Amino acid sequence: MASIFTRIVNGEIPSYKVAENENYYAFLDINPLAKGHTLVIPKMEEDYIFNLPADVYAGLWEFANKVAKAIDKAVPCKRVGVAVLGMEVPHAHIHLVPLNSESDLQFSNQKLSLTKEEFEQIASNIAQEFLSL
Ligand code: AMP
Repeated sequence: MASIFTRIVNGEIPSYKVAENENYYAFLDINPLAKGHTLVIPKMEEDYIFNLPADVYAGLWEFANKVAKAIDKAVPCKRVGVAVLGMEVPHAHIHLVPLNSESDLQFSNQKLSLTKEEFEQIASNIAQEFLSL
């Protein structure tokens, strides 16, 4: 059965898309630690990020680098933090989280509750910056 993230890529489940190319997809985390918290995934379905083929793995980080730069431009923050957990969804993904302090990257923190309009606006702002890179 397809993972929830594959179903997002296929458009069967909605997402707030930030960026996409042939092999990778980026979208806002639905339970964000901060405004602009983004997930970057390979379209290839593989649970554990460190089991991805070397070229897909390298391409994922390259794509995430570009997405992080777009987040940096679109979201006021000191820098963008990175985390890889995979405790919940068995489809490799990188968390990119805008940070103003170290504690912003604690997954035990209370998640933000944003409106659909807020998600759409943030995604659109990041997407626009991504296209201008
Ligand atoms: P983890 O697998 O531990 O890295 O956590 C999975 C992350 O995916 C969590 O931060 C969830 O909020 C996020 N997530 C799960 N389902 C969705 C979804 N349908 N759209 C966006 N983010 C999701």
